[in-house]
Amino acid sequence: MACIGVSEAVKALPMSSIEVGEAREARVLDGKAIAQQVRAESAAQVRALKERGITPGLAVVLVGDDPGSQIYVRNKTRACQEVGITALDHRLPASTTKEELLALIGRLNRDPQIHGVLVQLPLPPGLDAGPILATLDPAKDVDGLLSENVGALWLGRPRFVPCTPLGIMRLLKEAGTPVAGAQAVVIGRSNLVGRPVAGLLLAADATVTVCHSRTRDLPAVVGRADIVVAAIGRPEAIRGEWIKPGATVIDVGINRLADGKIVGDVEFAAARSRAAAITPVPGGVGPMTIAMLLHNVVLAASGLA
Ligand code: NAP
Repeated sequence: MACIGVSEAVKALPMSSIEVGEAREARVLDGKAIAQQVRAESAAQVRALKERGITPGLAVVLVGDDPGSQIYVRNKTRACQEVGITALDHRLPASTTKEELLALIGRLNRDPQIHGVLVQLPLPPGLDAGPILATLDPAKDVDGLLSENVGALWLGRPRFVPCTPLGIMRLLKEAGTPVAGAQAVVIGRSNLVGRPVAGLLLAADATVTVCHSRTRDLPAVVGRADIVVAAIGRPEAIRGEWIKPGATVIDVGINRLADGKIVGDVEFAAARSRAAAITPVPGGVGPMTIAMLLHNVVLAASGLA
């Protein structure tokens, strides 16, 4: 008789026997601890680069005074400095013209001390991000947003990939979730999260379904998934009862409720009682994003991208 692995054996069981017989809860993936591990790896890589005479440098461009952006920029530069990356802020007033911003990006493109350039979005009204970002050197695009890097991902040769999707792949790895051959369902098709994570899952040989606001019968599609990535920005829209027993659930959503509580896109407690592994909100995907930025800056400085 042919032997089958544990995961195949579990899949072969009727669903009811899992539900009735076992009251296990999913492993909760600790994004903070995994992000800390990524930061330690980046610090070691920075030390190795410095021994070769290379100090990785990141320029962060912030235009205007959006309070959320100011916090993000401060956290990014601090995280870089902690691992030995030189991080320089360029803070420009909201009245900055397109020409002034393009001139700065041009200078950063030519600066050999700067390996990565990050333009914090959104830009103030009147500055159209698309044509401005397009002038950035693709070899310094550590946010992975330029069409050259998006194209490389979809050609199956990822170079710079947006940080949140990279963090999601790392979480799946740490969860021990087999990706090759898995049915992966990504809910959300934004350029920042949904599309690139779908590209990465495809590059890793998953069978990928991308859902969006026009998808029909979302519960049935989610119910077939071994891997669920929810990135829609709607509090607890993905019901726990939709989750296939044994699935891995990655919740990207960050939603603030009226009482100030932050919740994800997935109904956490109910999903946890069915899944094998799940990310919490907060403390799951969130901490991974800045950690993967460090990874991208190291990649840019090492010239490997
Ligand atoms: P976005 O640009 O607003 O995209 C949302 C996507 O969800 C769209 O593709 C939309 O479909 C789809 N959608 C909306 N309602 C839906 C529904 N009821 N059923 C199925 N699909 C639906 O959002 P985003 O930038 O990708 O961010 C998504 C969430 O992740 C937000 O909560 C955001 O705060 C969070 N986020 C977290 C991190 C992190 O570091 N943890 C990073 C980035 C984003 P259509 O395309 O049809 O409109």
